[in-house]
Parts: sequence; structure tokens; C-alpha cells
Amino acid sequence: MHEISNKFGFSLTYSYLCRLKQFDPMKKVTILVPCYNEEHSIPILYARLNELREQLPEYAWEFLLVNDGSRDGTLDAIRSLRAQDPQVCYIDLSRNFGKERAMLAGLDYATGDCVIIIDADLQQPPETIPQMLKLWEEGYEDVYARRLTRHGDPWLRRKLSLLFYNLLQRFTRDDVLRNVGDFRLLDRKCVDALKQLREHERYTKGLFVWIGYKKTEVTYVQQERAVGNSSFGFLSLLTLAVDGITSFSTAPLRISTVMGLIVSLAAFFYMCYVLIKTIVIGGDPVQGFPTLIIVMLFLGGVQLLSLGIIGEYLARIFNETKNRPVYLIREKEGV
Ligand code: UDP
Ligand code: MG
Repeated sequence: MHEISNKFGFSLTYSYLCRLKQFDPMKKVTILVPCYNEEHSIPILYARLNELREQLPEYAWEFLLVNDGSRDGTLDAIRSLRAQDPQVCYIDLSRNFGKERAMLAGLDYATGDCVIIIDADLQQPPETIPQMLKLWEEGYEDVYARRLTRHGDPWLRRKLSLLFYNLLQRFTRDDVLRNVGDFRLLDRKCVDALKQLREHERYTKGLFVWIGYKKTEVTYVQQERAVGNSSFGFLSLLTLAVDGITSFSTAPLRISTVMGLIVSLAAFFYMCYVLIKTIVIGGDPVQGFPTLIIVMLFLGGVQLLSLGIIGEYLARIFNETKNRPVYLIREKEGV
């Protein structure tokens, strides 16, 4: 009896809340910012986001900052914002888990009807956001931003990134979006979908493609970093590239199969040739040491390469089977 009345009471409150929501058409927008050593960018970013909030009073706002184990005063900067503005909330991760995981933590706790992911360094102008919101209102569920120029990125990095995109596109049937980063608006549906994808080696750009939903694009001009340096060095970008390819497709495994096939076929034909030659002309005395060495080294190389490729996938299986949480939280406020 008690339970029934409880349930009854609950459903009454629930329908009341639903009705309230109908009367209150204000949609909530979460701005999700992963931060790693950004103590100087955060106040500037906050000022810009604040302007945006004043421009668009028809939305309820939530500024969700994820501190990804920063080693500087980022957490203090966030805390002081929180003290003066209740719409700022934050999650403090227990260590540096990397941007991809920090974003997942943010998506897990975001409460908005849509979530906009933006970097803390202001390379992505918040002024693009009204345009994104307009497209969202038109019914698009994933509004991604494509950068027109890559100001502030060194030449070599631009070239390598282009090479990587070409490689990835060759390996996969899905559309790889060039010059599209994590700056985008995600509808609640997309957020809920992404929350279900809890792999550890996250390549979020690939996940965005994988979930599907109605996508459209806006463009922006990438700015110079406001302060500080990029935290992605050559090595971490290389890791990201390998993660990208291995989590997006299994084509490299097929390549090693094909390579094995080609080498075996070549060996077979060469055997036929040697056999016929021996019968017709007669055998060779021992000769051809350089050829032998070259063939051996070549085959050794191909074998090691194939093993390495298998190893990459095996390592991923190993990491996933440990089934650890993707990130750990030390402290959260307002979420
Ligand atoms: N970031 C993070 N964890 C990391 C590295 C970076 O949360 O381990 C955040 C960083 O604070 C910034 C965003 O990810 O908001 C993009 O980083 P960065 O500007 O260094 O990368 P780039 O713009 O060079 O790709
Ligand atoms: Mg940046």
C-alpha cells in the first residue's frame, strides 16, 4: 500500500514537472571545456562565454569545465569562477587522462539539452556558437565546425595531419571529415549515444562519425592560441594517429595478409623458375649470397611489421578486457 501511494505520488510529481517544463520552453545548453594546464586561458574564455550568455538569454546555460589533472593553477581558476557564478560547474579528474577521456567525463555529467564542446585555448571562436544553435533549432543533431585555415599550427604539423587523414580515408568506408575537430554541438540524443561507447583507447572523432545522426557543418577560422602552448607534441599526435587508424578500421590486418600472399606467390613462381632452370640448363653451384641476404632481410621485415600490426590490436584488446573505469574523479561541484 505504502509502495503504491509512493509510486502514485511520484507519478503525480513527475507529470507536474513535465507540465512545468511545457510552460518553461527554455532549453539548456551545456558548454563543455576540457582543460589541461590552462590557468591563463580560463578567465579569458569565461569572459567570452559570458558575453555569449548575455547575447542569448533565451537559453539556460551550464559551463562545465573538466580539469584533466592539470599541474598548474587551473583548478583554482575554475574554483574561483564557481564561487562567483553558480552556472559554472566542474569535474576534477584524479590525474591527466587525456582530452578524449576528459570529454567523456564531461558528457557523462552534462545536463543540457545540447552540449557544445570547445577548447579552453580560444583557438575556436565562441562567436560560432549562435550559428550552431540556430542549426540545432532547425533539427540538426550534430553540428560540427570545420576550420577554414589552421592559423597557429606549424607547416609540418599541417602536412602530417593531411597525410594522416588521407591514410585513414583509404582504410575506411566511413566518411572521414577533414579539418573537423572536437568543436561541435551535440544534441542530447548524440550525447546519450556517445555515453554508451565506453572504450578506453578513445578516438572521439571516429566515434562522432560512428554514431551517425543528422549532421551538418559550420565553418570557422582557427585563431592563434590565446596563451600557452599546445599540449599535443609530435609523439602524442602520432599516438593519436595510430589510435585513430586502429580503432577506426581493421584494414592494416588485411594489409599484412595481402602482403603475405604476395610474397608467397612470388616465392612459388621463383621456385618453379629455379626448378625448370635446373632441369633444362642444370643447377647452379652455390652463388647469389647478396640475393639470399636481401630476400631474408625483406621477409624478416615483413614478418616483424605484421607482428607489430597484430600487436597493436592485441594491446587494444588487452586494455579493453581489463575493464577499468575510463576515468576517475577526485572532486565535482555543481553537477
Ligand atoms: N586537453 C586536455 N587534456 C590533455 C590535453 C589537452 O583536456 O591531456 C585540452 C586542452 O586544455 C585544450 C584542448 O584539450 O582545451 C586542446 O588542447 P591543445 O590546445 O593543447 O591542442 P591543439 O589545439 O594543439 O590540438
Ligand atoms: Mg589548441
